[in-house]
Amino acid sequence: MRSNLSDSFGRVMRDLRVSVTDRCNFRCLYCLPETEEAADFYRVKFDALKNPSPPTPITREWKPRSQILTFEEIERVVRLAAQLGIEKVRVTGGEPLLRHGLESLVARLAQIPGVTDLAMTTNGFLFPQKGRTLREAGLQRVSFSLDSLDPANFKRIAGRDGLRSVLASIDLAQELGFRPVKANAVIIRGLNDHEIESLTDFARQKNLSFRFIEFMPLDSGRAWQKELVVPGREILQRLQARFDLQPVKSSNISETAKRWSFADGRSEIGIIAPVSEPFCGHCNRLRLTADGKLRTCLFSLTEHDLKPLLRGGASDGVINERLQEIVRQKEERHHIGEPDFVQPERTMSCIGG
Ligand code: SAM
Ligand code: SF4
Repeated sequence: MRSNLSDSFGRVMRDLRVSVTDRCNFRCLYCLPETEEAADFYRVKFDALKNPSPPTPITREWKPRSQILTFEEIERVVRLAAQLGIEKVRVTGGEPLLRHGLESLVARLAQIPGVTDLAMTTNGFLFPQKGRTLREAGLQRVSFSLDSLDPANFKRIAGRDGLRSVLASIDLAQELGFRPVKANAVIIRGLNDHEIESLTDFARQKNLSFRFIEFMPLDSGRAWQKELVVPGREILQRLQARFDLQPVKSSNISETAKRWSFADGRSEIGIIAPVSEPFCGHCNRLRLTADGKLRTCLFSLTEHDLKPLLRGGASDGVINERLQEIVRQKEERHHIGEPDFVQPERTMSCIGG
């Protein structure tokens, strides 16, 4: 029988997120909240919550280049993982478009037998310069982060005046034939929850596949509070009050989004609610960090370093066995909101969302 990547709960891994850099040109308030606007936003929220202990931020340091996997190393891990059943690969970061020569990595990944879906998540700022070569290199799908349509609010959230570039990127992705073009918004109470309807109008106007995501405790400020999470159910109720939504049936039980279509067939929205409605029971995802650590959960407290094997002359067989052994240790579920929850030391920007 062909071996595969199954964990001790019977889940079979099919999806690998590959972070190609831990660096970023944005400072999103829910990810790397290092701006004054972010500090102001959280200060007011903490005061309002009368929170007795303001959080201690995680000290962020970029990994030195020597610790970041080379394209050859990434390609090898993906090839071996694909031999073990990984089918979907998503290039992410940090901001993946900051990685020099990304198109040559994409071209290598696109050639790997078994990889049937090759996607990228990006903030879109550099996509106007790089979109065409990435498409030609074999990138099949692209998702953009788009948390606001108001230039001032966009800047407040992302720490950079980038709305115009991201909108241009979305248009370019459609021209280049990426189908569907996806966009994601992390919704935070008191920050951009008033834009849920306008983001949906925009998705419909542009015929996008749009995802609303709950805020997760993976920010470098450790400032996440459950009061800031807008539960998926609430987002859905808001949208149902405005739009005639039909549930989209899916045969893929590991899908993270609950999806909804519109009566006229234009665009689709998805709600990703890992905090209020966890989907750990069907999780089939693994994450490879830019510095070569394999993570079996976004919220893992341990990581498995593949670099010593990759740089120490290990054979494909040895690495294959290690991948299987790591997957057997995959956590059953996350513990967000429970008294024993511990936020991982590494932030979303380092893990690769
Ligand atoms: N820089 C790229 C981007 O922003 O699209 C790719 C990396 S980013 C870490 C991947 C995804 O994680 C983005 O969709 C982002 O919105 C999401 N993300 C980051 N921090 C998050 C958090 N604390 N909660 C929920 N989603 C988060
Ligand atoms: Fe924002 Fe993505 Fe950068 Fe995080 S990694 S700060 S989500 S653009």
